[in-house]
Amino acid sequence: MSLKIEKHIDVRGRKREIILKAFNEVLEEFEERVKIKKMKGIRLFVTLNPVKTCEKIILPKGKLRRHSELREWICRNSPSFSYWERDSKPTIMVDANQKIFRELNYQAIKGLFAHELMHLVDKLEKIEDNLNDVAEETINDIICLLRKHKEIPPFTIDRLLSSFIRITISTVLFMKDIFANTRAMSFGFDEEIYANYKAVLEGVKEEIKFTERGIMKALKEDRKHILDNAFLTYLGLNTCWIPFKMFHNEWYKELKELADIKVPKIVKDNCKEILKEMLKLRSASDREQVARVLKLTQQKYFNIVRYFCKKLKSLELCHPSSYKVL
Ligand SMILES: [Zn+2]
Repeated sequence: MSLKIEKHIDVRGRKREIILKAFNEVLEEFEERVKIKKMKGIRLFVTLNPVKTCEKIILPKGKLRRHSELREWICRNSPSFSYWERDSKPTIMVDANQKIFRELNYQAIKGLFAHELMHLVDKLEKIEDNLNDVAEETINDIICLLRKHKEIPPFTIDRLLSSFIRITISTVLFMKDIFANTRAMSFGFDEEIYANYKAVLEGVKEEIKFTERGIMKALKEDRKHILDNAFLTYLGLNTCWIPFKMFHNEWYKELKELADIKVPKIVKDNCKEILKEMLKLRSASDREQVARVLKLTQQKYFNIVRYFCKKLKSLELCHPSSYKVL
């Protein structure tokens, strides 16, 4: 193999061999299709200790926007990600604690590697930069929405602004995933990608549930992020089936069913329209469609915030003494 792979693998023995075999198989397929050699080398981390591994990634100055991916990684929300900034080596980080590694689900492991490797290819071809640029341009839309907002705790202007930023960055990541997966599928990795998502989604419905009552309780206790989590979790899980539906692959139905976690109706209804718009994403260079998805997501999130603000307001009117005044 001509591409140098720097391996940092915590797993030993047969498991290690299988993981490396999966990675090499995927890499070979890629080498036939894209100019992956331009990368010169790849650092591959398959780790049992994600936080510790983070020490090894030195974030270059001024790249704090990458913190959201790091945060998701440390919080174990994201079991893998790829990282590549100028002056650093292309890096793939994989959390070996996930089920697909415990059970040695070969297809799914290949799917995960194909997905992460495609992120690096997309970075190499500056495809992902386009998305980041469009996201930067939506700041005016966020300000516009903030201007319409009537503050009620915990939705103060500054905290709502941080929510909008978190939602925008996450939506960019969802779109990067859609583009990486559609391209990996066009390379013939549809079964592997499907196996990976199926493994990831199995059991989430039992594990993750957001009720309107639970969210209201959290908001009253100043835990605003619970609403953001409900919105982003539902949207994020549902982006898994988007590439399959785009390709008219019937497997999307099963993934869609698995991703259909319990969230309040208002969240589901608003996300539905975002997902519909995401289905029209064809290329990351279609800046208009990318911007449309981002603006729609911000608007829909704002609709949900307004719904809960109204509920909080009516509560405040009923029990003014029990409620904090801004
Ligand atoms: Zn990804």
